[in-house]
Amino acid sequence: TEELLRKSDKLSVVGQLAAGVAHEIRNPLTAIKGFVQLIRDTKGAKDEYFTIMLSELDRIELIINEFLVLAKPQAVHFQEKNIVTLLQSIIALVETQAILNNIQIELTAAQDIPLIQCEENQLKQVFINILKNSIEAMPNGGVIRLGVEYLASSERLRVRVVDEGQGIPEERIPKLGEPFYTTKEKGTGLGLMISYKIISEHHGKMVVRSTLNVGTTVDVYLPTQTP
Ligand code: ADP
Ligand code: MG
Repeated sequence: TEELLRKSDKLSVVGQLAAGVAHEIRNPLTAIKGFVQLIRDTKGAKDEYFTIMLSELDRIELIINEFLVLAKPQAVHFQEKNIVTLLQSIIALVETQAILNNIQIELTAAQDIPLIQCEENQLKQVFINILKNSIEAMPNGGVIRLGVEYLASSERLRVRVVDEGQGIPEERIPKLGEPFYTTKEKGTGLGLMISYKIISEHHGKMVVRSTLNVGTTVDVYLPTQTP
């Protein structure tokens, strides 16, 4: 629990930052991007400079958009949903990227999984983040296994995502969920931070275990009863 508290402290700071700064930056950014595009499409302009500028602007935009997810939680509407249906729609979304990387995604779920109270789009965001991380950790392809189980004794669901990726060194596990912690050239280090925040807003828990060069397991626990 100490670990969880530490993480949620950081989240609220980042949340305030996101609310204040993100909106301020996004509008001028959109304007600049439009003009750069306009100039690039004019004859004689220096193509490569504009290409670099545009890709840097894209990157800022991506970070801002991820931050905006954090600024929104006031407006959440919890609804009763079937997690298996939700996961199926997520798999459809990331499947193209998976196939391109020679990765199969398998989903196993028991028949009568109870419904959960959730903000559907936010939960989708979580599982997209988790699946993308798994895909990005498997450059040589493989299988990602998703399983959904109902844990009757604690009235929770467990969604387990098991990948066959490069894994995470044990000493780095505590860093997961810290803003901007990334090992990727084009990573933002925001995906897991946002995921931890969303899952905690659902009164759930997310646990990551990993073995180097074997793979990573992410367990997401969600209550089936309104707390
Ligand atoms: P990003 O994907 O932009 O780097 P995330 O917050 O999603 O940011 O992930 C942070 C870091 O955690 C990643 O850069 C990676 O080092 C590590 N990570 C997360 N999920 C996995 C995974 N399934 N396999 C290996 N490493 C992972
Ligand atoms: Mg990620």
